[in-house]
Amino acid sequence: MAEVIVGIDLGTTNSEVAVVQHGQTRVLSDETGDPILPSFVGLSSDGKLLVGRAARNQWVLAPERTIKSIKRKMGQDVKVPLADQQYQPQEISVMILKTLRDRASKALGRPIKKAVITVPAYFNDAQRQATRDAGELAGLEVVRILNEPTAAALTYDPRQQDLQRIPVYDLGGGTCDVSIVQAQQGVVEVLASHGNTQLGGDDFDELLLNRVCDSFQREHGIDLRADPVAKSRLLQAVEAAKCHLSYHSYARIDEEFIAEKNGRALHLSMEANREEFEDMIRPLLQRTLECVQRALRDAKLTPAALERVLLVGGSTRIPLVSQLLEDRLRQRPHAEVNPHLCVALGAAVQAAIIAGVEVGAVLVDITPHSLGIKCLDPDGGSSGFPFRLAPILHRNTPLPASRSELFSTVHDNQEAVDIEVYQGENPDIRRNHRIGKFRVQGLAKAPAGNQIVVHLDLNLDGVLKVSARERVTGLQKQIVIENALARYVLEERDAARARLRQLWGESGTAAEEDDADDATDAMPTLVPGPREGQRETVQARALLEKAERLLAGVRPEDKAELEGLMERLRMALTDRRWEEVTAASDQLADVLFYLEEA
Ligand code: AMP
Repeated sequence: MAEVIVGIDLGTTNSEVAVVQHGQTRVLSDETGDPILPSFVGLSSDGKLLVGRAARNQWVLAPERTIKSIKRKMGQDVKVPLADQQYQPQEISVMILKTLRDRASKALGRPIKKAVITVPAYFNDAQRQATRDAGELAGLEVVRILNEPTAAALTYDPRQQDLQRIPVYDLGGGTCDVSIVQAQQGVVEVLASHGNTQLGGDDFDELLLNRVCDSFQREHGIDLRADPVAKSRLLQAVEAAKCHLSYHSYARIDEEFIAEKNGRALHLSMEANREEFEDMIRPLLQRTLECVQRALRDAKLTPAALERVLLVGGSTRIPLVSQLLEDRLRQRPHAEVNPHLCVALGAAVQAAIIAGVEVGAVLVDITPHSLGIKCLDPDGGSSGFPFRLAPILHRNTPLPASRSELFSTVHDNQEAVDIEVYQGENPDIRRNHRIGKFRVQGLAKAPAGNQIVVHLDLNLDGVLKVSARERVTGLQKQIVIENALARYVLEERDAARARLRQLWGESGTAAEEDDADDATDAMPTLVPGPREGQRETVQARALLEKAERLLAGVRPEDKAELEGLMERLRMALTDRRWEEVTAASDQLADVLFYLEEA
């Protein structure tokens, strides 16, 4: 039997171990099925060694007995205290590596003696040597120290003939690293690397925590940050909410009995929404884009020379990350291989190559095309056509996948919305394929901007569940579409039509007529959002439309006032002054009410 060499991602926040078995790469889980080992080491109150989740859970409550982010100190001549002992950084890493080695031995049913261990591209010789020492002390022969971006690139079949330049954008819990990797025929090297070792998901948690605590303090006069137990609970709650916001437009943060005031228990119950969260973290993400810029400059490359963009690290799950990178690099990043696990998987690929084991590319199930719904184009239809595709599940999303987006109604007192589900990539809805349609009837009487949450859930068998829910009432309807993964090729459809036409001499088929219907379909009923000011804009436009209609019949003495108000509202809309838009809209609504009554 060939010897087994495992691949280990020894991360700042989390660590994993992976292996290639029967040509397949897989990450090894603990007995609870968890593939991730938090890189925390601690001693319990009764002196027991804790590694992983248990140590992480006690970190805020007992920082003197817990060590986190030891990777930042690797290679430094320092000691870290743990209870009443002092340890070298590599001794702490040994505990993490030993836990991973034991996990692998148990999972594979044989002792594991050799490993490939990954390090950041910027690690110097001392840091690499300290990592090697930690491996040896953990009873592992370290057959290779591998750069993390190289490992990530190895999961994406770098054995192609053509020279590829691949940016690897790694945003984890505490650090951001951007590397430009070059790959050709299996030879992978790092051309340039830039990073910020003090920027990552922990900072996003902190921002959200402060937002929650500030609001609680305003309401109750109590600072929850001052109480370690409350802070620890809240940190876990905001992190969970942050992760939820990667797939949904809203997240609830509910913590009961979080504090006490005058003998009365206080509960915390708040809602976080994606837009606000994105605004909060945008400045930090801009700083990561500077790392991209600098890495490109060092590699002497422009975005046009790049082959594909790879995402690594848990924080790249945040949709805004892909969006900003796409804007900057003009191509949609790849995250098919789980960004939490891809460094470990790549280390396993390298380990298998060293062991002389056959290894295929890392296989992932993905959706081959985007899935979304038809909506009114908020920019008024740039292609001259008023509808566009609003993608909800993007192409190349790993399966199973589940995501929701928020939309808003267009008309006041709109009673129904039509949800039309499409697959395809073209913003112009007519260039995509409709795979399902349903109507949600009986919406609450509400002004335009009534929020509708559309949720798509796609499983490995290609079964797509689509639901639409009115936020205020919870009114919901759902359909199930079988076979949503089947690729629909437009050219095939056109060829089939041409054949039919020849056979029957007909002008078209039922399908064509159906699609033609789509193009000019009934009433537009949804817009994506809310974007900033969208609700205000929709309402203001509706009011202006109404005012235009009434203007002709208005008495001369009222006309000037009405025109003045309309002008004020238009100016505020143009300048995107939303408070002023709301104020002017309210006034205009009052005037219109009075004019209609008169
Ligand atoms: P890593 O060091 O790569 O394991 O990344 C850990 C960081 O990713 C932590 O800050 C996590 O809170 C964050 N993270 C994990 N999953 C998600 C998610 N779905 N959305 C946003 N952040 C996430």
